[in-house]
Amino acid sequence: GFQCGIVGLPNVGKSTLFNALTETAAAEAANYPFCTIEPNVGRVAVPDERLDRIAAIAKSAKTLPTQLEFVDIAGLVRGASKGEGLGNQFLANIREVDAIVHVLRCFEGDVTHVDGSVDPLRDADTVETELMIADLDSVERQYDNTAKRAKVGDKEAQRRLAVLEPVVAALRDGRPARSVAIDNEQQALFKGLNLLTAKPVLYVANVEEESAATGNALSEAVRAKAAAEGAGFVVISAAIEAEVASLSDPEEKREFLETLGLRETGLARLIREGYRLLGLITFFTAGPKETRAWTVRDGAKAPEAAGVIHTDFERGFIRAETIAYDDFVALGGEQAAKDAGRMRAEGKEYLVHDGDIFHFRFNV
Ligand code: GDP
Repeated sequence: GFQCGIVGLPNVGKSTLFNALTETAAAEAANYPFCTIEPNVGRVAVPDERLDRIAAIAKSAKTLPTQLEFVDIAGLVRGASKGEGLGNQFLANIREVDAIVHVLRCFEGDVTHVDGSVDPLRDADTVETELMIADLDSVERQYDNTAKRAKVGDKEAQRRLAVLEPVVAALRDGRPARSVAIDNEQQALFKGLNLLTAKPVLYVANVEEESAATGNALSEAVRAKAAAEGAGFVVISAAIEAEVASLSDPEEKREFLETLGLRETGLARLIREGYRLLGLITFFTAGPKETRAWTVRDGAKAPEAAGVIHTDFERGFIRAETIAYDDFVALGGEQAAKDAGRMRAEGKEYLVHDGDIFHFRFNV
């Protein structure tokens, strides 16, 4: 599955947030296989209103949401790149995830701050600096050798160097690898560097309870930073999310959120934003047994989507019978869509669209 790693300095609210995520997932686990994979890895349902609408039309016995994984990556302190705290273990854990959820403390109060005062922009810098130092170590180690080989005409090394050079320059200049413009044909090499600061980032501004709906001055500063970087951004009060997660009655939950001026939980926004940040889209399968949501990366072709369900579906792929979500809902289901000529037969080259409802035809 796709993974978002939760990072941040100590005492900013990471565990509170992670526990709320997994508790919510556990509470909603009645009709899908939720699991806490490891103590610090949780799988959560991606909220999607389309699932219930399709299920109602298809008269499905049950619904299964698609899922996203969150990893609580504790242990970052100043100096982690030099082995302080859980240093190397921490960095190795980040290397494994697809995106970074960076929690920033934007609440005052008497919780101890490792640097003595509340300043989310400084904290963001502290964390990002550690990641940049680790990346710089990694690319500088490769640089000299690659440059030598490139000089004597090694074409592969020359291509590699063309990617390493701007990355090294950016990191030395205090800019993350994701800020470097990379050509399409260089993408594979760039990805192969597996840099921490190349991963997409979502900032979570953790505000005090009173500011959950509005944000505060500190979260506004984080919002501006995120906008300038093209990063994701969500305001949350981890304390409130923990409280909401502990309520088991959905009605009670909704009322509690309403009194706080919230339409939905911060977690729902966080999960959706994480999904978007990862460049993921959802397709559906629907029948009397179940309606189910599935995840592929944006840009995937039909056989890859089939392979998400079963590798046999991809190997023996013949075609995908496809109905767009809007057609399915507007026309009132599969048969009606078929009658109206809105069920398409798509081949191997078909690019999956968000909301596609599929039947895959395949050879066994
Ligand atoms: P971590 O070290 O980043 O995992 O931080 P924790 O989740 O353990 O939180 C550290 C402390 O901050 C705990 O005492 C939490 O109760 C408190 N805390 C976390 N989020 C909030 C919040 O939104 N508001 C307030 N007032 N306290 C919070």
